Amino acid sequence: MNAPLPSAAIVATPPEHFVGGRFVPPSGGATLPVIDPSDGQPFAGIARGNAVDVDTAVRAARAAFDGAWGRTSPADKGRALARLAQAIAARAEELALVEARDCGKPLRQARADAAACARYFEFYAGACDKLHGETIPYPEGYTVLTWREPHGVTGHVIPWNYPMQIFGRSVGAALAAGNACVVKPAEDACLSLLRIAQLAHEAGLPAGALNIVTGLGPEAGAALAAHPGIAHLSFTGSPVTGSAVARACADRHCPVTLELGGKGPQVVFADADVDAALPAIVNAIVQNAGQTCSAGSRLLVERALYEPLLARLAERFAALRAGSAFADLDCGPLIRASQRDRVQGFLASARADGIAVAAQGRIVDEAPAGGFYVAPTLLRDVPAAHRVACEEVFGPVLAAMPFDDETDAIRLANGTDFGLVAGVWTRDGARQLRMARALASGQVFVNNYGAGGGVELPFGGVRHSGHGREKGFEALYGFTALKTVVLQHG
Ligand code: NAD
Repeated sequence: MNAPLPSAAIVATPPEHFVGGRFVPPSGGATLPVIDPSDGQPFAGIARGNAVDVDTAVRAARAAFDGAWGRTSPADKGRALARLAQAIAARAEELALVEARDCGKPLRQARADAAACARYFEFYAGACDKLHGETIPYPEGYTVLTWREPHGVTGHVIPWNYPMQIFGRSVGAALAAGNACVVKPAEDACLSLLRIAQLAHEAGLPAGALNIVTGLGPEAGAALAAHPGIAHLSFTGSPVTGSAVARACADRHCPVTLELGGKGPQVVFADADVDAALPAIVNAIVQNAGQTCSAGSRLLVERALYEPLLARLAERFAALRAGSAFADLDCGPLIRASQRDRVQGFLASARADGIAVAAQGRIVDEAPAGGFYVAPTLLRDVPAAHRVACEEVFGPVLAAMPFDDETDAIRLANGTDFGLVAGVWTRDGARQLRMARALASGQVFVNNYGAGGGVELPFGGVRHSGHGREKGFEALYGFTALKTVVLQHG
């Protein structure tokens, strides 16, 4: 049985790109269907962009950068972004309904994402006129200055798991630094961003400052990464695509920020506050049905605590329920059938290799039959070298294993190719700091797990999780080029 859909979830944006301050049809006339992951049915369409559309958008952005947006003072840029933040906040419920339907995420997660998107623009609105350069002491007779200058036109390739949040953090910072943007959202989830682009125009961003070209990755995405007019590319997505995008950028020496995957370890020592840790451990893997780059997908527990903690965690997992986005349960569906099949493939390989399921939640009877659901699953005693312990599952699957001591914990925690976010649970202050230093990870949370952390917190990976930092003030540095000016005046 289909859960009733709020009528406001019916999307009004046309199957067109948003370029130069208005909706424009795709040059090739082609569109793509948009599938509701909760029931597997098409419910809207988007434009299938190509290299011509990308070129038009880059030209529109360049014209804005050389024109109205480039001439806007930092303070007025900040005011425009603040108005956009307010517009997103005022439309948060509408945007959340769209995102819930488009991505299949539980409504309360979609609401949180809309609020976070507004907050990114609020944060970066305040930063526009605070991006200072420096003076550098130098021999007498010289004055040396540094200026932070925008790159020009920045490209932004966005994934489907958190469209509004990732758009906010990337585009908010790029606009605040003075760039004009061309965005290629994921083909699976574009609708909220098209609406936000419309809101940005209404909020007074000059035409062309923010452009959105929808379409497939190998078509519109690849054209954006290869376009000579793009002066910086921010990519969030899978490590494999990240490599392809980085290669395209390397060919013309275009700087690139890569936000890729993760295999976040939650390291729980025997002295941990288990009552505090348990809900955070569950949330870090079921949030967004595990489709979170910073998901806590590995659970490493000191041997003395392993059985008692797993027993309590198993009770929680058994109570988890998956259902349609609008049923607003612990998990929604996965984004598409192939993603569900991929996750089921990981579970099948764990089963085939004798890995025990400690507990499994359930898919509720009311979940529409055509939806892409996976029951949240807790696996125990997972060998560290098994693929469910090493590879990014991107589903609600937690791999638990015991460790013997701090050295063993560090070895296991650092034992994958990834290094995005890690969690440590211990009351021992010295160990907290030792672990924070020892973990190869862009973020370390001690006695909490932020699943990516707040708007203010620099975020990004090491190793296969990528490079460069987004979020916080740090992101503004990536979206600018530093110029050093040396004056000799005697
Ligand atoms: P993906 O790499 O397939 O797609 C991401 C984006 O890249 C989409 O917009 C897609 O259209 C585009 N794309 C695909 N092929 C392209 C190409 N050849 N050239 C240019 N663009 C192309 O990844 P996905 O399946 O959408 O997302 C899941 C992955 O993203 C996971 O690995 C996850 O960990 C990662 N992710 C990372 C972060 C982070 O901040 N580190 C956040 C969200 C998702």
